[in-house]
Amino acid sequence: MAKILVTGGAGYIGSHTCHRLLEAGHDVQVLDDLSKGFAHNVPEGRLNVINLHDLVAMDKLFSAKKFDAVIHFAAFISVGESVREPERYFRNNTGGSLALLDTMRRHNVRRIVFSSTAAVYGNPEIVPIVETSQLKPVNPYGESKLMTETTLRWSSECTGLRYVALRYFNACGAEARYGVGEEHEPETHLIPLILRAIRTGKPLTVFGTDYPTPDGTCIRDYVHVSDLAEAHLKALDWLMSGGEGGVFNAGTGHGFSVLEVIRAAEAVTGQKVPFQTGERREGDPAMLVADSSKLQKTLNWSPKYAKLEEMVASAWAFESSHALGD
Ligand code: UDP
Repeated sequence: MAKILVTGGAGYIGSHTCHRLLEAGHDVQVLDDLSKGFAHNVPEGRLNVINLHDLVAMDKLFSAKKFDAVIHFAAFISVGESVREPERYFRNNTGGSLALLDTMRRHNVRRIVFSSTAAVYGNPEIVPIVETSQLKPVNPYGESKLMTETTLRWSSECTGLRYVALRYFNACGAEARYGVGEEHEPETHLIPLILRAIRTGKPLTVFGTDYPTPDGTCIRDYVHVSDLAEAHLKALDWLMSGGEGGVFNAGTGHGFSVLEVIRAAEAVTGQKVPFQTGERREGDPAMLVADSSKLQKTLNWSPKYAKLEEMVASAWAFESSHALGD
């Protein structure tokens, strides 16, 4: 059993990971400022409402809890918002991570699993994407995460920090037994918006139909949130048992276009998705699909969910029981 701090544990992927860590017997505390996350996602008695920049509160928490490792999710995640307000993204995502790493060094906590993103690759030249591909983000969100990865690399080289950065592709779905799911306000992600369009009858807008893909809409690699939670658990256990760390893609290796996701949702729900087509969204690469063989080989990880319909069905179960937004 390890004492783990999960930053951003009130959010979507963070809360799934907390539940998974608790199931595996770890002792978990959550740090979240609740600017995006929800207290109801955090298991009873584990939430510390603290902003990463509040060094006094961070020092108090780290002194009291003596963590063995940190899993770091806390970040803003909307590509569109990052294009409109880049400074906020660098201050919150990169600046927040720097504050966290500084605190970890002062308290001699030397292991971290970092929630990175496929957005560090930008518009990849070769798909599926391997970790050694060019890192050329096309939006401030991706750059803010890449800057954190760079800091981790230097902290590792200079001070012996051990880290795993998981570059995940498009997280989706929900784990029914944890009672949590995808809940962003405002919601910007494709699958919850499709399901919301079905529920409310208000049409979804498909962003761009002129991409260089077979049906003209963007292709993404959708990976179930439970599989991502499992990847974090494996990365943590690896670091705890002396693993050296590294950077890993986390995706299924299968790409689906926006129109294919719409069709999958129609098959799952038996209902038509009302949608219209619109302009491209700024900062969206045409195609992001992962080569995750490094993660599969090193950490013996493999996604349990490979079928898009199963992932959408688990999201639909959550959406139908929670009826979020309209
Ligand atoms: N998308 C869309 N309409 C929406 C939201 C998203 O067409 O209302 C598209 C978006 O352009 C991208 C894909 O769906 O190609 C996945 O977007 P999402 O925001 O879910 O994740 P991202 O790939 O940006 O991390």
